[in-house]
Amino acid sequence: MTASNFTWEYAPAPEAKDHAKIKKQYDLFINGQFVKPQSKKYFETINPANEEVLAQVAEANEKDVNAAVTAAKTAYDKYWKKLSGAERAKYIFRIARVIQERSRELAVIESLNGGKAIRESRDFDIPTAANHFFYYAGWADKLEYAFPNRTPQSLGVAAQIIPWNFPLLMAAWKIAPALATGNTVVLKPAESTPLTALKLAEIIQDCDLPPGVVNIITGFGNTGAAMVNHPQVNKIAFTGSTDVGKIIQKAIAGTDKKLTLELGGKAANIVFEDAPINQAVEGIVNGIFFNQGHVCCAGSRLFVQEGVADEVISKLKARMDTLIVGDPLDKNTDIGAINSKEQLEKIKSYLKIGVNEGLEIFQSDACALPKKGFFCKPTLFIGAAQSNRVVQEEIFGPVLTIQTFRTIEEVIEKANNIPYGLSAGVWTDKGSKIFNLTSKMRAGVVWANTYNKFDPTSPFGGYKESGFGREGGLHGLMPYVKF
Ligand code: ADP
Repeated sequence: MTASNFTWEYAPAPEAKDHAKIKKQYDLFINGQFVKPQSKKYFETINPANEEVLAQVAEANEKDVNAAVTAAKTAYDKYWKKLSGAERAKYIFRIARVIQERSRELAVIESLNGGKAIRESRDFDIPTAANHFFYYAGWADKLEYAFPNRTPQSLGVAAQIIPWNFPLLMAAWKIAPALATGNTVVLKPAESTPLTALKLAEIIQDCDLPPGVVNIITGFGNTGAAMVNHPQVNKIAFTGSTDVGKIIQKAIAGTDKKLTLELGGKAANIVFEDAPINQAVEGIVNGIFFNQGHVCCAGSRLFVQEGVADEVISKLKARMDTLIVGDPLDKNTDIGAINSKEQLEKIKSYLKIGVNEGLEIFQSDACALPKKGFFCKPTLFIGAAQSNRVVQEEIFGPVLTIQTFRTIEEVIEKANNIPYGLSAGVWTDKGSKIFNLTSKMRAGVVWANTYNKFDPTSPFGGYKESGFGREGGLHGLMPYVKF
């Protein structure tokens, strides 16, 4: 008998989508206008939950990138760098307010284009994106307090390249601190999720930002590479895969371009015997399954202390029986669609690898998948070991490996023994244990008795192959200034 026998079946509760206005075709947002791409090329962007085409999107080539960077440079020299912090703040506040006003539409488009459950985009992505603009608007006229006794100066043009897992939020993380510190921007969203960034371009136009201060262009890796290599770019901020991060690092070697990289992760979520087990189980589910595991800081490696391993695993399985995988626009959905066919194939190949490595696999029988679209059942690999590929490599899907441990020293050693170091979680009743562990974990963020909590005031970023530089908080201003 599964836990689902005891739960209610929920009737569908779809979020309306007719208010979300998606144009058939999107051009490039350069110098305050939507302009046709000089490449004359467009590509399709789809809804990963049903594979329907949502819009055609322009593909920027080198000439288009040059036009965008030139617009950003001109806006920087002629206008933006001379503007007072208080004036810059007004524009940034305005963007924050309009994101709030249009949050319903933005949430629906985020879920349509990215596949994430509407509950996530409505309650987390969009409000947190607005909060980042509010927060950094507050700093724009207080930079002398952020950097006491120093004179922070802007850098110039920032090229910002973002991935598909948090499209609008990543755009906010990148654009807000760049504008607050007096830089201008060329931003490229990921090829599979361009729509909320293009909506942001419309918002920026409506907010009357001076032309060229923010340019938003779309395209694939070539477009990103042209941005990175453009000689008038002064700063590159990249979030994405470790492989591309390394390519970018090589490409700018020997130049004076500043760089921040936020790359992959493989976070340890550590549950001690004295932890509040029910809360921990909920935190584990939140850490890896919500958002389809499409989170670089996802708690994808679970470490459970031996004495509570059976209890945690059986409670976790029971909770997985109740998870709803399906229509991202349904308010009851816990786990939406995998972002693309390629990503689903990658996750499936790791499921095979885990099975071939001899691990026990668990997927709930109670969890049904929709027939169309890209979906994956939440999966456990029980009895995993450090040497398993599914433990060492980033899967970026709803797949959790489970290892057990006896002592705090052992778990710190195992948790740190990985190329990544973005985040971690710890569940225990003892504050001393939390502090002991957090100081020894090589991870940019360590959550204690919670997971995946974000706030614009706190910095985020990695160690080792997870990248360098921090985004968010006071620290997030630093990559955009020189002294
Ligand atoms: P993910 O695996 O998360 O899709 P990628 O690193 O492939 O991560 O993509 C993240 C972003 O980097 C996307 O916007 C993508 O178009 C861009 N990108 C891909 N290749 C390059 C490159 N060589 N130079 C710059 N940007 C790139």
